[in-house]
Amino acid sequence: MSAFAYLDHNATSPLRPAAFDAMVEALRAGGNPSSVHRAGRAARSRVDAARRHVAALIGALPAEIVFASGGTEANNMAIAGSGRQRVLASAVEHDSVLKSAPDAEIIPVDREGVVDLAALERLLVRHGEPALVSVMLANNETGVLQPIADVVRLARQAGALVHCDAVQAAGKVRVDLHGLGVDYLSLSAHKLGGPTGVGAMAIRSGAPFAPDRRGGGQESNRRAGTENVAGIAGFGAAAEASRDGLAVEGLRDRLERSLLAIAPDARAFGAGAPRLGNTSCISMPGVKAETQVMALDLAGLCVSAGAACSSGKVHRSAVLAAMGVEDAVAETAIRISFGWNTDSDDIERLIAAWRDLYTRVSQSDIRQARAA
Ligand code: PLP
Repeated sequence: MSAFAYLDHNATSPLRPAAFDAMVEALRAGGNPSSVHRAGRAARSRVDAARRHVAALIGALPAEIVFASGGTEANNMAIAGSGRQRVLASAVEHDSVLKSAPDAEIIPVDREGVVDLAALERLLVRHGEPALVSVMLANNETGVLQPIADVVRLARQAGALVHCDAVQAAGKVRVDLHGLGVDYLSLSAHKLGGPTGVGAMAIRSGAPFAPDRRGGGQESNRRAGTENVAGIAGFGAAAEASRDGLAVEGLRDRLERSLLAIAPDARAFGAGAPRLGNTSCISMPGVKAETQVMALDLAGLCVSAGAACSSGKVHRSAVLAAMGVEDAVAETAIRISFGWNTDSDDIERLIAAWRDLYTRVSQSDIRQARAA
C-alpha cells in the first residue's frame, strides 16, 4: 500500500508519467518555437503536436487552440476578449470567472446546482445589449454537469456569445467544442494529469476575440509571449492520455453508498443531477470540514474542504450556498475527487478512516451528553 492516498484530483491531478517524459524531453531539447533554426523548429513541432492532442481532446481544430498559463488566464481572456460588456454568469462559476466579471448578472442554480434555464431566458431578454453568457461544464466542488447545449440555444436566440469553463470536465467526460456550440472554452493541464501553469482557451473559428496582451505575435496574435514549450508538451501528452475519460463512477458510488450507510444523515450534494463520476461532495453530520480534512490527512488521505482557496483557508462555500444548503451543513462538507491513478484500495482506506472519525466523534458526543 502506498504511503498515502491522494483523493484531491479536482485541486490538481498528479503528473501523468507520459506528461513527465514529454516535459523532460522538451526541457533537454530547449529551443524557442519562433526561431527558424533546427532547435527552434524542433520546439515548434513539439508545440504543434501538443496543439493537435489538446484540440483532439475537445473536438476542436488545432488552429482554434490558444495556449495560456492555465484555466484562470483562459477564463480571464475569454471574458475580456469577447468584447462584451454585459456578462451573465452562473452562481457556481469559479472565482476566475466571477472576479473577471464583477458586474456580471448572476444566473441562479437549483438545489442540485444546475443552472435555472428559465431564469437565464428572463435575464437574456431583459434588455437588448448583446451579452456573453459564461456557464461551466462541470463544477469543481460538486462535479455537477450543466446543460450547456440548452444554454447555447437560449443564448443564440438572444444574440449572445457563450463561454464555457471546461477545466474540470476535460479528460473526465467527453467535451466537444462544436457539438456544444460554445464560442470560447477554457482548459487547464493540471486537472487532467499535466503540469500546473499551463492551459488553453479554445476559440471557435469565427468567434470575435480581441487580445489584451501586447508583445510578439505568438499563438497567431492571440496570446503574446514565448510559449511554455515544456509545459505545453506535458499538456499535450496528458491530453492524449486522457482521451478515453475517467471510468470511476463505480468507485464513487461504492464510496457514497458506504458513507451513507455509516452515517444515514450524511448528504451527497448534487447527487440528484448528472455529475462527474470522479467527484463526491459529502457531509459528515456534526463534524467540521477542517476537522475531517486534518483527521483524514493523519490517516494518510488527501481530500479537501470544498472551498479551500489559495491561502489554504476554508471559506463558506458559495457553491453550496447557491444550492440553498444551510451554512451549518455546508461547513461539514468535504470534497473527495478521484483521478487516473485512483484504485479501490484508496476507496477502502477512505471508508475505514471516515468510519473511524465518525464513530469517535459520535461516541464522544454520547459521552458528553451523558455527563451533562
Ligand atoms: N475553473 C475551474 C472550474 C477550476 O476548478 C479551476 C481550478 O481550480 C480553474 C478554473 C483555474 O484553473 P488554473 O488552476 O489552471 O488557473
